[in-house]
Amino acid sequence: MITLPTYVKSFMDKFTKKGFQIYVVGGSIRDLLLSKVHKDWDFATSATPEETLELFPKGFSNNKFGTVGITIEDGKTKHVFEVTTFRTEGEYKDHRHPEKIEWAKTIEEDLARRDFTVNAIAYDGKKFTDPYNGQEDLKKKLIRAVGDPDKRFKEDALRLMRAVRLSSELGFLIDEKTRDSIRANAPLIKEIAWERIRDEFMRILNSENPAEGVLFLRSCGLLEQILPEIDKAFEIPQKSPKRHHIYDVGTHLVMALKHTPSKDPVVRFATLLHDIGKIKTFKKDPETGLITFYNHEVVGAKQAGQIADRFKLSKKDKDKLVLLVRQHQFTVTELQTDKAIRRFIREVGKENIQDMLDLRTGDRVGSGSTPTSWRLDLFKKRLVEVQKKPFSISDLKIDGKDVMKELKIKPGPKVGKILNELFEEVVEGKLKNEKLVLLKHLKSL
Ligand code: ATP
Ligand code: MG
Repeated sequence: MITLPTYVKSFMDKFTKKGFQIYVVGGSIRDLLLSKVHKDWDFATSATPEETLELFPKGFSNNKFGTVGITIEDGKTKHVFEVTTFRTEGEYKDHRHPEKIEWAKTIEEDLARRDFTVNAIAYDGKKFTDPYNGQEDLKKKLIRAVGDPDKRFKEDALRLMRAVRLSSELGFLIDEKTRDSIRANAPLIKEIAWERIRDEFMRILNSENPAEGVLFLRSCGLLEQILPEIDKAFEIPQKSPKRHHIYDVGTHLVMALKHTPSKDPVVRFATLLHDIGKIKTFKKDPETGLITFYNHEVVGAKQAGQIADRFKLSKKDKDKLVLLVRQHQFTVTELQTDKAIRRFIREVGKENIQDMLDLRTGDRVGSGSTPTSWRLDLFKKRLVEVQKKPFSISDLKIDGKDVMKELKIKPGPKVGKILNELFEEVVEGKLKNEKLVLLKHLKSL
């Protein structure tokens, strides 16, 4: 027996008073039973969408699946309630969309079309309807398909990703028969829109166990379909004389993902991809046995861009992913000048420094090293100190206009480069920050 919040009960009462059946279903009841917070509430009802809209005229119905969204206010908090009419689904043709949707009479029929047993539990406020023993699977921490897994994955191939995503989010295992079926049907995922695959994949990265999720995608053949680059990386060795590496590239990438402190899925994605360029740049010296990956960060950044396009990431996320992969080889030594540190800050961008360092932490631990070193600690301290100096290019006593006028050049990257050089010289005390001095120096360039 679980107690529903009052605002949920009174919402359901509106339906039952009119003679309709209504149940809490899907993720909301699953997460309630797990004592986890679920952000939205899913309901199944015998009322048609029109009848639901009569009860709640402010509701919005925006899809052909008969779902009505209703915003309910509980004090200051707003909740979105998703109310779906009992339905059954006809034949599926393209592994994604049912040919037609029909309203069903009973909750049992409705539960039969749901994906996994833990998602096929209904609760009317007093008793459970649980024909597939979802509560037992919740206790066993198992994801199991409702009915015949082969049939269910063939109907809708997105369920392949949903299974792995749910297992990552909940920390559950996937039942053996369901897992075998995922493996057998993995190529069907290609029928699904990349936006949908991306959403599930990003949720795997966002979960408590992103590395396990990726390994799971690999073991059931889905990684090969959606990220073949990573799948191949497991075949690239990097153990060689005088090298610290203990893992192959793929294992290293997954271990780095496991150990990065970042919770941001884009940073986690970049951590997973950071050495992706090593596959194409792998070289082994036949005599010494030495393995090298020259310029792998440049090649890798390009590949990260292609992967971002494939996954239809936003421009902002793509830019960040590419930048973190491109810059991940930054050097850290006690001999670095302030100038080198400022260059690092400029190249990475102030807003991305912490993420870059988080990727490095993952990279280190994922190579069997310690999370940090005295050198890295010193570097972090210096990053802070260099940034504390209030001085920036905009404090220079001349600006881009002066540079263009003095050197008779047009706007372009060269102007910024010259300003940067002047700035460095001023910071290092080689030049005075005075207009005349700087102009004179410009003339001598
Ligand atoms: P979350 O909201 O955390 O993603 P959820 O289980 O509530 O988890 P939703 O996408 O909100 O997921 O879907 C609500 C319910 O609808 C699911 O619990 C499941 O019963 C059903 N469902 C969703 N997608 C599918 C699908 N592709 N095939 C079958 N049933 C599905
Ligand atoms: Mg939900």
